[in-house]
Order: sequence, then C-alpha cells, then structure tokens
Amino acid sequence: MRLSKHFIPTMKENPSEAQIVSHRLMLRAGMIRQSSAGIYIWLPTGLSVLNKIADIVREEQNRAGAIELLMPTIQPAELWQESGRYDAYGKEMLRITDRHERNMLFGPTNEEMITDLFKNNVKSYKDLPLNLYHIQWKFRDEVRPRFGIMRGREFLMKDNYSFDLDFEAAKESYNKMYVAYLRTFARLGLVAIPVRADAGAIGGDLSHEFQILAETGESTLHYDKAIEDFDLSSLTGDIDDETVAKLQGLYAMEEEKHDVDNCPVDAADLKTAKGIEVGHIFYFGTKYSASMGARVAGPDGKEVDVEMGSYGIGVSRLVGALIEANHDDNGIVWPESVAPYKVGLINLRFKDENCTNACDTLYEKMENAGIEVLYDDRDVGAGAKFANMDLIGVPWQVVVGPKGLEKGVLELKNRRTGERVELSEEELLAKLG
Ligand code: ATP
Ligand code: MG
Repeated sequence: MRLSKHFIPTMKENPSEAQIVSHRLMLRAGMIRQSSAGIYIWLPTGLSVLNKIADIVREEQNRAGAIELLMPTIQPAELWQESGRYDAYGKEMLRITDRHERNMLFGPTNEEMITDLFKNNVKSYKDLPLNLYHIQWKFRDEVRPRFGIMRGREFLMKDNYSFDLDFEAAKESYNKMYVAYLRTFARLGLVAIPVRADAGAIGGDLSHEFQILAETGESTLHYDKAIEDFDLSSLTGDIDDETVAKLQGLYAMEEEKHDVDNCPVDAADLKTAKGIEVGHIFYFGTKYSASMGARVAGPDGKEVDVEMGSYGIGVSRLVGALIEANHDDNGIVWPESVAPYKVGLINLRFKDENCTNACDTLYEKMENAGIEVLYDDRDVGAGAKFANMDLIGVPWQVVVGPKGLEKGVLELKNRRTGERVELSEEELLAKLG
C-alpha cells in the first residue's frame, strides 16, 4: 500500500487523554479514534492488527476441535430471565427496547444464547463433546472505561462454550482449551501466566485467567517462579498432559485471593508482578443447563443436564497488551505475526527520479511476491519518514537513497534491534519473501 493513498492519521504529539503507553501509541500511530467513552473506531492499521490476532485465535480454536459460528450482538431479555441473570447483571448490561416494546440487550457474553441453541438442537450424548465459539463484539457498560481499548465498553471477544456428558469429559474439554490458550499466546510472542481463578465451589481448580505481565496491568499476581522455566512465550508445539499437569500444579494467584500465611510457596520462590488479563477459562458444570433445561439423553437413556464450560479471550484487549509488551521510545515494535505490514519502504529522495523509479519498481516486486509492504511515497523529509515508520512499528524498513543506489545496494533496518545491513535487491527480496 502507498502511504500517500492510505489512511493512517498519525500524530506527533502525545495525546493528553491517554495514561498508558499502548493507548498513547494506538492514537499516535493512527490505529484508533475514540467515538464516545470506551467506544472506538478501528482505523485501517488497527483493524489489520485486530484481524490478525483474531486469525491466530481462530486457528488455535479450530486446531483444538472447537467449531466457529456467529451469534448476534443483540439478544432477547427472555433468555436472561430464564437463567436469572437479567436482574443480576446490573448496570453493566446495556438494555434496549425495540419498537414493539420488547426488551432486548446488547450481549455482554453469550452463555444464555448458546445454552438455548444447544437445548433446541442437541438431544443425545452421541453428539458430545461439542465446543462452539464465535468472535463477536460485546458491550459492557463499564463503570470506568479506561486505557483505550484495554477496558472499553464495546470490545471484541472470542468466546466459546463446551458441552459434555460428565465431569471427566468436561475436564478434558477444559484442558484442551488450556492448551489452546497457551499456544495462542505463545504464537503472539506473549508470556501469559495461567493464574488460578477459583470460580467458587463448582469445578474447584478448573478456572484460570491468563495474565500478561506488564507494569500497567490492573491485577497484582503472586506466582511460583518455577513457572518461568516453562518459557511460556515459546510453548507452541504439542503440549503433553504431563506439562499441563505440572504447570497447573504451580502456584499463581491474584492478590485478592492470595493468602500470605497459607501460601504453599516459599517467600524466596514467590514472584509478584502486575498483569493484564487477556483470557479466562472456566468450568461451571450445570449452572446454565439446569436453569434453562439443556439436557441430553445419556447411554442409559436417562436425561442429564449437560456439563458446560466457557472460555474467553479479549481479542481487542490483546492489541493493547501486545503494545505494552512491544514498544520503545520511538513507537510500536510489532512482532511479525500480527504487524499491519511486514515491510516499510522509505524513499529518501522523492524528487530524485532514480530513487523514485527504484522504489516504484521494488514496491511492485514486493507486492507481486505477496510481501505486505507500506510504501512511504510522500513528498516529505527523510527524518519525518523514519519517525513515522518507527511509530507505526513495521518490523522491517527498507531505505532507498541515492548513495546506496550508486553502490547498487539497499539498506534494511530491523525495527526491534535497530540493526542495519546493506543488501542487493535480489538478496533483499529473498530475505523478506
Ligand atoms: P475484567 O476482570 O478485566 O473485567 P472479566 O472477568 O469481566 O474481565 P470475562 O468476562 O472473563 O472478563 O471476559 C473474557 C475476556 O474478555 C477477559 O479475559 C478480557 O481479556 C476481555 N475483556 C473483559 N472485559 C473487557 C473490556 N471491558 N474491554 C476489553 N476487553 C475485556
Ligand atoms: Mg469485567
């Protein structure tokens, strides 16, 4: 894409409304604009990153055997009256009345709708296990929306729901998702600590929050430093049951649930850090199936309430979390897996015909080779182009100037390390292709 024809409204100055670095950089890099409190417009590069994260999440869900569907954002109140959550959810739920005076709501989550769908379409244990997911916008009227898209009111979530005949099978479904989550965050290059989030009596230990370590995190975590030995940002291969059991056996707890006096880990081995919750998985048994009548016939012909679990990933929150983990003083440093563009092509001398021709040709070659390239073809100074490309965070920058062209070389800069090398066009295309 040519920058002159694109829409990336970057800003030089720090916007005063942003308190944390990811929010500042998303505004400055032209990824988002606020529409109203906690509600954002996703601009082209922001949307591109969001979609790439969603794709990785989707691939790992599919790999784990979950099946994608799409439920609506607007839900009827009746479903929530059945489960008893219509009143319980309180002010966080955005309630809507349609022209026929029917009570509707903008879904903050989908347990009720999926349980109803299951109830109307699945009757036998033979159709189990079943795990359904969607990636859909949610609305929660948060008391204090803040930190940009990190705690928005409208946000994108991947949520799925597992259905099993009994506890043993439900536990297996849970562990599959646990592994899928480890793989998903690792593919994003993130260290996501699975923290025990005791959901109360049911299921006991089958509830984890996945927390990215970051100084700006809203939660305080205490965890066994042995967790670091698992090298969580590279757990992308097959993760065996033994590894899962070991990891689940290690202590990691949020401040509120951490009991200093009864902590099983020696103080010397305990680490404390701030975290951003990017995912939550939990088993809740028959909570919704019992109240909403979602039953299946078991092998003996008797009907039982189906065992359920639900699993969420904050897809839009991850955009912010990734920036918290990947930035420097000059801007964002995208990991290649989710970068809006892989390469930034910088024409140092717009008015020099040789430079412009060389850039145009190289741009075309890259496009033809399927390399995602952002070509800064604007008539502005070199310094501004460098600063802009650094801010946007494109992982590789190709710099074309008159001196290099004389020597027959192009400069390639690695955004993360700052390392620069000179390469021929052929070498460059081979490296980036
Ligand atoms: P939190 O404690 O941060 O409010 P939650 O417990 O309400 O989160 P869940 O209902 O488990 O969150 O939702 C699943 C995931 O959706 C969370 O792990 C988080 O990543 C994301 N999420 C929740 N609320 C928001 C929000 N207001 N803005 C952006 N993402 C959110
Ligand atoms: Mg919440």
